[in-house]
Amino acid sequence: MKKTKEKEHYLKEIYKLEASDQNVSVSILSAMFGISKPSVSNMIKKLVTMELLNSAPYKAIVLTSEGRKLARTVVAKHRLIELFLVEIMDFEPENVHEIAEEIEHIESPPFFRKVKKMLNQREIDPHGSPIPDIEF
Ligand SMILES: [Zn+2]
Repeated sequence: MKKTKEKEHYLKEIYKLEASDQNVSVSILSAMFGISKPSVSNMIKKLVTMELLNSAPYKAIVLTSEGRKLARTVVAKHRLIELFLVEIMDFEPENVHEIAEEIEHIESPPFFRKVKKMLNQREIDPHGSPIPDIEF
């Protein structure tokens, strides 16, 4: 997986766990991603160094405010794209997730501003999840 993509993937999944009030640990992420605990541990250390996560022994892994900002942006991109694919492009809701997984990593504020505008500030994605309100 490409570096930026991997970073954003971790932040997004940690954000979703936090949003559902679940404690985030290396074990949980390892089981979720289907990769070894040492690999997850390594990535967590990198994200801590980048000041996107806080982690201490025997404590849950948590997003820093910078990490949360980035995670919310990726989640917003993902959910806006899913909504766009369903509402504008007439995709079936069950067929949009994989496409959104790719497009969410594109770095183009004008693109996402336009997508958001075309959706008239809608707040819920096709799967019923709230779309974080981000200024792209
Ligand atoms: Zn999805």
